[in-house]
Amino acid sequence: MRPFANSIAARICHHRHVDASRPGLPALLLKTGANDFIAKPFQAEEFFCRVTQNTNMIDYVRQLREAATRDFLTGISNRRHALELAESLHANALRGHFKIALGMIDVDHFKRVNDNFGHLIGDEALKIIATTLQKTLRASDIVGRYGGEEFFCVVVLKRDDDAKLVFERIRATIAGLHFQTAGMAVPLAVSVGFTTELEGSLLQMIARADSAVYQAKDAGRNRVIRH
Ligand code: GH3
Ligand code: MG
Ligand code: MG
Repeated sequence: MRPFANSIAARICHHRHVDASRPGLPALLLKTGANDFIAKPFQAEEFFCRVTQNTNMIDYVRQLREAATRDFLTGISNRRHALELAESLHANALRGHFKIALGMIDVDHFKRVNDNFGHLIGDEALKIIATTLQKTLRASDIVGRYGGEEFFCVVVLKRDDDAKLVFERIRATIAGLHFQTAGMAVPLAVSVGFTTELEGSLLQMIARADSAVYQAKDAGRNRVIRH
């Protein structure tokens, strides 16, 4: 639904002194982008019904958009949406507009968190980690849930060297979260693999960062590795 469309059509009517009784006008306005058309004179009840229907429709579309773009559990961008946004950053980076780094973030020993504290606490942990990622990065950076206990981010940089600092800050912030349940500390840590090599495609960057995650796991977890 286009919430501005009504006002565009209303302006056409209002400012151009369109004859509201003109045959074909409803079709013209609807083609121009109006959501609805009501001819004068109308009863107040009809008017309010139409307003309610239109605002309900705007709400449904907003809810659908949220459902299509947000991860249900954590509320951050889902994989598809984050990848779409990341593709655009990647294309701009390839054109030389700015530098980017792509990082894959995998929660360490997350199965143990579920096993030791239960899946509901595991879910809470994922929400806290997602929120931490978002807070640690800038609004212009992209964070998404890749799947399960894996997240990815694309950060915009001035210098390549800043990437290590950004991902190290993420790692250290998560390791220092002190998440507790029923007085027990839930240990949380992440392994991060990142790359600043633009390669040919975003997926190639993901593959590179992913292999760095495996290296980080092999090297003992709770660390950041560049590839
Ligand atoms: P590693 O350090 O090697 O990454 O070990 P890990 O235990 O994190 O990795 P593994 O792939 O063995 O287990 C991932 C776990 O994440 C298993 C799965 O049940 C859990 N998980 C995935 N998605 C969710 C979720 O939405 N909620 C909860 N609570 N757990 C999830
Ligand atoms: Mg994993
Ligand atoms: Mg893991």
